[in-house]
Amino acid sequence: MGKTYQEVHSKTPFEPHVLLFPIPFQGPVNCFLKLAELLCVSGIHVTFLNNNHIHGPLLRHTQVLSRFSRYPNFRFETIPDGLEHENPVSGDRFQEVMDAIDVVTKPLFREMIVSGSLSRRSKRPVTVMIVDGVFSFAAEVGFETSTPVLSFETISPCCLWTSYFHLHNLIEVGHLPFKGNDLDEPIKIVVGTEHVLRKRDLAEFCRKKNLSDPEIQRTLKEAKTIPRTQGLILNTFEELDGLILSHMRKLCPNIYTIGPLHSLHEARLIPNKSPKTSFSNSIWKEDQTCLSWLDKFPSKTVVYVSIGSMATLTFDQMLEVWHGLVNSNKPFLWVRRPGSITCENNESIVPNELLEYSQKMGCIIDWAPQEDVLAHRAIGGFLTHSGWNSTLESIVQGIPMICRPFYVDQLVNSRFVGEVWKAGIDVKDTCDRLIIEKAVRDIMDVKRDVFTQTTNTWANLAKESISETGSSSISLSRLIDDIRVMTSTMK
Ligand code: UDP
Repeated sequence: MGKTYQEVHSKTPFEPHVLLFPIPFQGPVNCFLKLAELLCVSGIHVTFLNNNHIHGPLLRHTQVLSRFSRYPNFRFETIPDGLEHENPVSGDRFQEVMDAIDVVTKPLFREMIVSGSLSRRSKRPVTVMIVDGVFSFAAEVGFETSTPVLSFETISPCCLWTSYFHLHNLIEVGHLPFKGNDLDEPIKIVVGTEHVLRKRDLAEFCRKKNLSDPEIQRTLKEAKTIPRTQGLILNTFEELDGLILSHMRKLCPNIYTIGPLHSLHEARLIPNKSPKTSFSNSIWKEDQTCLSWLDKFPSKTVVYVSIGSMATLTFDQMLEVWHGLVNSNKPFLWVRRPGSITCENNESIVPNELLEYSQKMGCIIDWAPQEDVLAHRAIGGFLTHSGWNSTLESIVQGIPMICRPFYVDQLVNSRFVGEVWKAGIDVKDTCDRLIIEKAVRDIMDVKRDVFTQTTNTWANLAKESISETGSSSISLSRLIDDIRVMTSTMK
């Protein structure tokens, strides 16, 4: 192994220089960019390493380049992944992306760090690596080169705890692979969630029949690697996930809770924001016209519908959701991301009643400025896929949710929304017009007062956590201090 850049330049004191390396999907890239900006404003040098296939859409649809050009201490680097996608990929191609990263990105990344070429290009050594929890290979390179590594998990702590850190135990006691068809069987071995969790609430990969499935194997590895890193950054706040965090700290003592990250980011960056600055990190073009469409409606009357950046609906499922919305007789704003409805060509068989209602009371768009939408006074409920970012964005605004989850952490999140945080209704494993209609009526009318009371409490706690003396602000300051300390102790 050649000498690292650090070894070659060991006489000069190092300045803090963080390498950020997210998994190339909308949610994680968005979170990592927000963290990057928070580190930049605190004077830390940042190199943001993005996979090629997501970097193009990001530059195409956002002002990230001009926004970050304000920071002389920030630079983008890209790394090939062998994927040639003009457009971002949906979740059904997740494994394809991970395979490509394994074959193409992994060796290049190792070369980049071990040879010191990345440090040379940025003219300063990388002193701390913040890598996506799923990138165990990147953490390993940090261990190998004695570079301090922090894991950043952008999925929810409740999923990380129940379905990642306990995956090994779930297999050991024979819960996995599932036997029989009773998904309502309680799961009692996960400390802190004994009275909440059923089989159906574990991460979606727990339903796989074959334990040698790459996703299971990758997760087992991830769960082993994270506790070996020097700290774990989580997008949550202490008050929301206190119980889980107290148990998780026994495994990973150094946890930084810096969420809701989008709010913390906004609170810190707003003073620098000119009216024209967009904080968007969207890899699709945002349709801003939906905001003026929302202006027409009274407070808390519109249902916002989105399944995030990766999930897909079959055409029939879409029709069920559509009927449910129409039958509830509420106005709706619905994001139908390009490629998110399979068999799109069946447009001709959409019943007229749906088209007519939608012309009067609906707005269907490709991609929304979601944070602004959820902050709009007209929104009264969110029919969501329960992605962790969407969940937090909804919690911050005090919007009750109807949760229809698809993958990974979404199945755990929806259970926590329904049973632990009481911030909405979990309709997982169903896609039925009657169930959707009832859930919409419940959150918008019948049970609105009950939900509003709880969601307002969470929204207030979220706001407190990012105030100057709040738990997430303190955690971010500690993270920044620790990055400086880790840098100063590097040899
Ligand atoms: N999002 C957006 N516009 C949309 C739909 C989603 O900006 O029309 C953003 C949303 O605000 C969130 C992210 O995309 O920050 C989705 O992340 P999440 O973790 O909720 O789900 P994922 O896309 O990873 O499944």
